[in-house]
Amino acid sequence: MTARTTSPTWQNWGRNVTTHPVRIAHPGSTAEVVRVVREAVAAGLPVKAVGASHSFTAIAATDGVLLRLDRMNAILGADAATGRVRVQAGISLHELNPQLHARGLALPNLGDVDPQSVAGAVSTGTHGTGGRLFGISAAIVAVQLVTAAGDVQEIDDQHEWFGASRVTLGALGIVTEVTLQCVPAFLLHAREEPMPLPEVLGQVDELVADNDHFEFYWFPHTEKTSVKRNNRVPDGTGRRPVGRLRHWLDDELLSNTAFEGINRVVARRRALVPRVNALAASALSAREYVDDSYNVFISSRRVRFRESEFAMPREALPHVLGELAAWFGAGHENISFPIEVRFTAADDVWLSTGHERDNCYVAVHQYWRSDPTAYFAAAQDIFTAHEGRPHWGKMHTLDASYFAKTYSHFDDFVDIRDQLDPGRTFSNAYLDRVLG
Ligand SMILES: Cc1cc2nc3c(=O)[nH]c(=O)nc-3n(C[C@H](O)[C@H](O)[C@H](O)COP(=O)(O)OP(=O)(O)OC[C@H]3O[C@@H](n4cnc5c(N)ncnc54)[C@H](O)[C@@H]3O)c2cc1C
Repeated sequence: MTARTTSPTWQNWGRNVTTHPVRIAHPGSTAEVVRVVREAVAAGLPVKAVGASHSFTAIAATDGVLLRLDRMNAILGADAATGRVRVQAGISLHELNPQLHARGLALPNLGDVDPQSVAGAVSTGTHGTGGRLFGISAAIVAVQLVTAAGDVQEIDDQHEWFGASRVTLGALGIVTEVTLQCVPAFLLHAREEPMPLPEVLGQVDELVADNDHFEFYWFPHTEKTSVKRNNRVPDGTGRRPVGRLRHWLDDELLSNTAFEGINRVVARRRALVPRVNALAASALSAREYVDDSYNVFISSRRVRFRESEFAMPREALPHVLGELAAWFGAGHENISFPIEVRFTAADDVWLSTGHERDNCYVAVHQYWRSDPTAYFAAAQDIFTAHEGRPHWGKMHTLDASYFAKTYSHFDDFVDIRDQLDPGRTFSNAYLDRVLG
């Protein structure tokens, strides 16, 4: 079947990256991906696949051929005994999670939204939180990749490219299928409550160690936080989801509708921000519930923003937050979005922010109608002073010279890229910058 084409304008979710591809193709099979790649190479055009366009960097941008794998969204096989699930790479987490659940399975950990495609999420090292857990890419046991030569490669843990193939930045080829190691479906007990920042930092090691998934949001210009502890429940525990009224109040009204209104106002009257942040932190009161893991991990995020997030060694956390507080205190800018702090364990994925290091993650956000440049630059200076590694899909200005020092397998990754994509079919300005 011929690949369908649609409008030649593409924009990311954060609306800070817009391109005009020569064409947009929706292949329905690996064979069609091969054909589109071969045609593009013959025409001298670059090729990029996009998932849900949820990256804030221009990592997915192209003026060449843009591939949307939204027709490649099936589960191809699930082995209940081993927990291994083969999916087409275009399936979104939103489509995947309930289908895994129906088979008694789940991904071991997730980030906080689910529109991303599996290929898009793993390509940038998407992660959630959990001091003993990893990003989504660590669940990959095999990848099917279409290379610039139009070959179809199956890369499993015995393959010499395995270390490079789980977080690829989209630089090695088009991922068409992925095998994921899932776990038995599980319920989580969620406990959310306010806690003063000094108290959180005073016991952060225990909070990370004692909870399966611990994170907190710090409200800038205040000492207020909202902490979240999510833990697996003993066998026999039943679901106790958030009531509909409470869900509407906390997750829709306070986190989305009212938050959008607040951001529109404070974008014009920034002096109000500290008082509004204190009020917002107080409005989110404590709550507990028990639900299927993916319902607990995933939240609705309808207020549009831009984001920068860096992974750092865990011991850096109090220093990093102290330096951010000093920047806020110096009166440079009033920031309305909470700062999100998460944790993961060291993994063996070459370009994962978690590579061989137990991390904390600090994420800074700016409402999309406000310019994030000064805030994110100041934050990046603080993060890089603490060996920060930026999320590949979130805003930063670093380049290959920095990453060559930051990732021990950076040169190995670049060597594999040279073998697989010598003509840079899968490159763009962002990849030229970060990979050289
Ligand atoms: C509201 C929001 C919340 C977020 N929450 C989190 C979070 O909790 N944790 C976190 O870590 N990140 C988070 N992110 C970032 C997001 O998870 C990543 O940027 C992710 O890469 C986006 O997935 P996507 O499907 O939109 O991919 P895109 O942004 O469309 O693409 C990302 C990369 O993957 C490549 N790619 C996509 N499909 C393929 C393919 N088939 N083959 C080869 N390469 C491919 C693209 O070329 C590009 O390089 C969030 C982003 C937003 C906007």
